[in-house]
Amino acid sequence: MKTSTSKLSSLQPEQLATWATEAINRSNSGQLPAYIPLLARADRQRFAVQIMAIDGHFLNWGSIAQTFPLMSVVKPFVLLYLLCELGEKAVFDCVGCEPSEMPFNSLTQLETDKGKPRNPMINSGAIALASLIPGENAVERCQNLRTWLNQQANSQLFVDELMLDSVNAMPNQNNWDIALAMVESGYLQNSEIALETYNRVCCLSGTVEDLAKLGMVLVNGGEAIGENCRTVKALMATCGLYEASGRLALRVGLPAKSGVSGALLSVIPGEGAIASYSPPLNKEGNSVGGLFLLEKIAKTLRLSVFD
Ligand code: GLN
Repeated sequence: MKTSTSKLSSLQPEQLATWATEAINRSNSGQLPAYIPLLARADRQRFAVQIMAIDGHFLNWGSIAQTFPLMSVVKPFVLLYLLCELGEKAVFDCVGCEPSEMPFNSLTQLETDKGKPRNPMINSGAIALASLIPGENAVERCQNLRTWLNQQANSQLFVDELMLDSVNAMPNQNNWDIALAMVESGYLQNSEIALETYNRVCCLSGTVEDLAKLGMVLVNGGEAIGENCRTVKALMATCGLYEASGRLALRVGLPAKSGVSGALLSVIPGEGAIASYSPPLNKEGNSVGGLFLLEKIAKTLRLSVFD
């Protein structure tokens, strides 16, 4: 490890272990998602966290070798990829940039908005964006995204085919209704390829280290993609935790994104990234243990961007 210069690197391993243990206890109040059989059977007590600081310092705790599907944590990275590949106009012609007040899979939200997906962090927006990923079919599109992300992040994301089978085992009528409504409103052309791509990219999987490395792409930016990273972080901050995003801005004050697998990624601009995995979810579909730990770290180290 290198000498530390960031606030993040002042965190002591013992402190992290104490909070993580408390986070596991708190997660007992959460639920596993019933609609994806493999996620419904996840180990509720499983917990992993990886903290990466911009100075190269890192700290982790728990089941760090455990792999898990990104699920909705892939959404900011689909957005980043498309902003870089196609540009802002193509992306925001297809999806809005306003926070939503309804759940991540709400058809009502889409109907309220006359069929235009409200933002890229909810299912409608991500399904619409999945249809823009270059490639002949879903496999090729997901592969293009995976290759790009692994290059940018030096991560080892892979498609968890068993998870994908599990996702496909119980057809998600809600996502179908969302896709069909967008075809009707003209925001989507082909619902089948969009959903197939969306389901596949949600099954991109890795460890908490891979997830933290993805977060570091947003932190490090750089000349080529920095502008787009700013856009993605802004949308994570305003929309990343769905209808809980406003509350999180007060309590944590950091861009973040959750997934129904229990994955949670938060980035601290100019400082680093915090990635965690803890399956039980609260009613908004965000990881109970992950949020508890994030709040503890952010408050103690005064990481809020509003500080
Ligand atoms: N694939 C999941 C779904 O469409 C992703 C949702 C999530 O992680 N919140 O329901």
